[in-house]
Amino acid sequence: MGRTVLSSQRYPVRDLKTLLANLPGIAYRCHNDRDWPMEFVSEGAEALSGYPAATIVQGTPHWGALIHPDDRENVWAQVQDALTHDARFEIEYRIVTRDRSTKWVWERGCAVDCDRGGLCIEGFIADITAQKDAQDALRAQHEQLTRVSRLSTLGEMTAGIAHEINQPLTAISTYAQSSLRFLDPENPKPDRLRVALEKLSGEARRAGAVVKRIRDLARDRSRDVERIDCNQLIQDVEALASSDARAHGIRLNLELAANVVPVWGDPIELQQVVLNLIRNAIDAMEAIKLRDGHDIILRTSNRKEGGVSLEVMDHGEGVQPDVADDLFHPFATTKSDGLGLGLSISRSIVTAHGGQLGYLNNPSGGATFVLTLPQAPGETS
Ligand code: ADP
Repeated sequence: MGRTVLSSQRYPVRDLKTLLANLPGIAYRCHNDRDWPMEFVSEGAEALSGYPAATIVQGTPHWGALIHPDDRENVWAQVQDALTHDARFEIEYRIVTRDRSTKWVWERGCAVDCDRGGLCIEGFIADITAQKDAQDALRAQHEQLTRVSRLSTLGEMTAGIAHEINQPLTAISTYAQSSLRFLDPENPKPDRLRVALEKLSGEARRAGAVVKRIRDLARDRSRDVERIDCNQLIQDVEALASSDARAHGIRLNLELAANVVPVWGDPIELQQVVLNLIRNAIDAMEAIKLRDGHDIILRTSNRKEGGVSLEVMDHGEGVQPDVADDLFHPFATTKSDGLGLGLSISRSIVTAHGGQLGYLNNPSGGATFVLTLPQAPGETS
């Protein structure tokens, strides 16, 4: 991109002033310096920052001092990067206005030669605070909706989860009674007492682990990404869902590939997707009462194209033709008590992870839902 020398003298000054005054933001020319000293700022400066244009041109304050301290380094780095490539830059950052409020701005600019030599930048800065607030509100709403859907899935699994916690509690009670017997002063059995107490402690840890998993899923949270081993993810989900499945006479069968490549994502959100697929698989098998001897298969594999595939294969009724076209749209449900949100939320979670969620009806009956995720960047198996 060739640099141009743009001088306000080239335009009739009165027309230019009207033109600039009507801009939804400010046009500027500044020196390429960390303080961003302005040679020219259009009238909108006061509406945007609280400081009249003349004050900013005088450097009281410089534009650089208005940039939020946490964003200054990033703004400098992005602009310098664009300038070294002779490219136009587009950046978003925060400014702190005269009344100490914070605003989000969008800026686009490019390098020009200064009238008096040296490197200047000319560009445009607009207030995008309203859009940012709307985006934040939308994100918060989406997080809430995702959580509600997670709680709804957990609610459907309550019977199984209660059973999962009840088992260690019953075992704890049994070991406690045995321990009391081994303490009998007439016939103490310290070795057996130790074994019983160790087992008791193990069962308490098991119950604690189930409660922790539920709390992780239920808590109000924002997105938190990390490196994920998909086999571990499936095992974590299985620990929660297996009792629910058992309560319906269904077993979860794991077919985990060795050396699955790691993915990058939010483990709770991805667990939510798999839990939802398992819940749907259980419902589909319930619908035709075909369950004994039929498992739900949870499968992981590395994909030829790269990344990982997670499959949930059931032996249920298969996806019904009347819902097939709308399956991933909100409120598409064939269940009398269904919300029809699970699959649409699951797909939006998977898409946000750069993956895909789809399904196929199995030739032998039932459906297989397939979730694909890209390999974590820069990672090898
Ligand atoms: P809900 O479970 O509340 O109906 P979902 O979005 O999770 O909402 O599912 C939408 C619809 O997709 C279900 O009502 C069902 O008809 C269909 N569906 C989902 N999973 C399966 C499956 N494994 N087998 C057959 N149909 C399914």
